[in-house]
This record gives sequence, structure tokens and C-alpha cells, in this order.
Amino acid sequence: MPSYRDQGVVLRTYRLGETDRIVHLLTRGRGKVRAVAKGVRRPGSRFGGRLEAYSLVDLQLHEGRNLDVVTQAELLTAHAEVRADYARSAAAAVMVELADQVVQEGEAEPEVLELLLAGLGALAAGPDDPSVFVDAYLLRLAGLVGFPATAAVCAACQAPGPHVFLSVRAGGALCPDCAPAGTRAVDPEVVASLAQLAAIGEWASLPRLAREHPVARRTAAAYARAFVEHHLDRRLRSYEHVPRP
Ligand SMILES: [Zn+2]
Repeated sequence: MPSYRDQGVVLRTYRLGETDRIVHLLTRGRGKVRAVAKGVRRPGSRFGGRLEAYSLVDLQLHEGRNLDVVTQAELLTAHAEVRADYARSAAAAVMVELADQVVQEGEAEPEVLELLLAGLGALAAGPDDPSVFVDAYLLRLAGLVGFPATAAVCAACQAPGPHVFLSVRAGGALCPDCAPAGTRAVDPEVVASLAQLAAIGEWASLPRLAREHPVARRTAAAYARAFVEHHLDRRLRSYEHVPRP
């Protein structure tokens, strides 16, 4: 059997038989990988606690017909703080659910993996309110896979903003000329919050956004969910479990 080495985040695990575990991973080199870790649930297993959800691991695998087989696993970042806390773990569950849905097996999506690692890292840092990182992650991931939420200019005619008409279907804020009759006008703070949530690269200021603009942020959060579910044509099953202030 050909073997390979790759790094990836454990998305989820399933029990298999008495002692094995099936592991779904988002890897750097091969996109989504499904593998079996044999004997992992036996006391003293050489894999120990290394194949837990949300951990970043370095793996040696054999290719299999249906499932690859993990032969070595090294823990790079455990993200144990995320698993240990209900709110953070619920937030991470949404992150891995969407990553799992947008990446295919055999298709490397290194930017999605980096975004997931950044999101898990933000959660591991111990925010008071992890849900704001979910909002940001959803919009950022949608942008990476071709559905950016437009906030700074009109999503239809690109006229410079700020604009306050907000449309899920049109992909963001609309100017008065482009907004169809009945389009909802929102507080400018909502559009500013959306811009901040959707901008790739920066997480540290998000807890402050959530604290200082709670109402705008709540509207932006609802928009982020509707935006992702509409444009990616997915329902986020784990979203409801994330505690929100
Ligand atoms: Zn316009």
C-alpha cells in the first residue's frame, strides 16, 4: 500500500468496533481524508489522546481502498482548551461542520485549513463570548470559496459606500438605486460590523466589537448565518448549540 505523510485538523471521530476509531481530517495536501486508527481506544495505545477533534496532527498514513490507515500520529497543537469548554467546543463544532461541507476528498484547500486553524486558535485563547468568532469564520469561509459578503461598496453596482440596504441574496450592502423595493435598511453600524467580521486576517478586535456594538453585532450575526446558508446552500446543524449573549 502506498503511504504518505500529511498534516491536518481532526474534524470528527467515530467509534469503529471494540477498539478502533474512524477519523475525518482536513489535511494540507489532500483535502478531506477519512482514515482508521486501529487500537486507538485500547489502554496504552501508541496514538494516546492525539486523535481528538480539533487537534492539529502530523500523520503517517497508508492508502486504503475505502479508508486510509493511520500508522503514526504526532500532536502539533492539541486545542485541548477548546474541547474542555462547552461554549468554545460548540463554536468549534460549527467551524468544522462548514469546513467539512465545503472541502472535498482529494482536493487540497490550504486556505480553508488556515482559516480553520486561525478560528480554533482564537477560540483556544479563551474569549468571553466565542460566538463572535463563529460569525467571522462563516463570512470569511464563504468569501474564500467564492461568496464574499460585500460591505464597503454596493454589491450590485460597486458604488462606494457606506450603504445601509442589506440583502442576503444580492451578497451584501446595496445602494438606494440598486436596492429592490422592500429591501431592509439597517443601522450603518451593522454594515460596519459585517465588514469587520468578513475581513480575513484579524480576530483580536472581534470581542471588542461584540462588547461595544451588541445590537449591530446581533443583526450582523443573523445576517452571516443567513448569508452562508443561502449562498453555500447548507443548513448549519450545529449552529443552534452555540451560546449567544
Ligand atoms: Zn448600487
